Amino acid sequence: MASERCVALIAHDEKKDDMAEFARRNRQTLANWRIVATGTTGGRVQDACPDLQVTRLKSGPLGGDQQIGAMIATGEVQMLIFFVDPLTAMPHDVDVKALMRLAIVYDIPMALNLATAGQLIDFMRSERA
Ligand code: PGA
Repeated sequence: MASERCVALIAHDEKKDDMAEFARRNRQTLANWRIVATGTTGGRVQDACPDLQVTRLKSGPLGGDQQIGAMIATGEVQMLIFFVDPLTAMPHDVDVKALMRLAIVYDIPMALNLATAGQLIDFMRSERA
């Protein structure tokens, strides 16, 4: 069943396998949320879970992170799951910081690693009831 609640999914390159597996394991819960994702991450999630409807935005380095930041600012995105690679320099680091800043400004739940994402999934499951 589709929901108006929207979660954004993003994973840096070294974390995309983790995101695909995370989506596969939690696809039943994710199916109750609208899903938006940066371009490449969205493709990986869609491949892992063909039954999920994923709206793919631009790739992160080409503006996808900023698109999601704008959607947080307008209230279209209510949750962010962002698997960050802490060991690799990113050309779009300023965009990543701006996105996290907006998630803080608008006080939405934000998971930056697998452990916290697991907690958010529990929350998302309970939201369904
Ligand atoms: P991508 O973007 O999903 O298009 O790779 C993620 C990012 O690096 O911000």
